[in-house]
Amino acid sequence: MSDALVLNATYEPLCVVSGRRAVVLVLSARAVSLEASTTVLHAERTAVAVPAVVRLTRYVKVPHRAVVPITRKGVLARDGHRCVYCGAAATSLDHVVPKSRGGAHSWENVVAACGRCNHTKADRPLHEMGWRVQCRSWPPRAPTGAAWRILGSRRLDPTWLPFLQPAVPAPAA
Ligand SMILES: [Zn+2]
Repeated sequence: MSDALVLNATYEPLCVVSGRRAVVLVLSARAVSLEASTTVLHAERTAVAVPAVVRLTRYVKVPHRAVVPITRKGVLARDGHRCVYCGAAATSLDHVVPKSRGGAHSWENVVAACGRCNHTKADRPLHEMGWRVQCRSWPPRAPTGAAWRILGSRRLDPTWLPFLQPAVPAPAA
């Protein structure tokens, strides 16, 4: 069974739960289904479409969590799946300040890059390359918000994407 995206009453993305859990939330009137998946759960006398997206009927206060863990998927999504150096489709991650020069594995130092730029840059910092980055995702920053935890951590159901905006930058044209 597919998973379901849970939104707060304010439509802020909260978390992902199992489809079965989403059905329970809806049947107990704790949430309403906004998008149905293609899965139908058959009970004794009834059939319920398993939700793909639900919204809680009551607002839940979310404890503040400062740091979104950095992941490959998250960096690629933040940078719109484009190489920050040349704009080509990104296939890899690059450490702006190379790890060999003490660069951190952090949101501020890791960017999406194409294979060519990554290979050319190798383990040199930007000033040695003479590269000047003019990209809208520059300088790299840590994203904030619950949508990013969801983005970086799992396979995304396409029906979730409109609810994860504007955290997800639209792919570059
Ligand atoms: Zn590139």
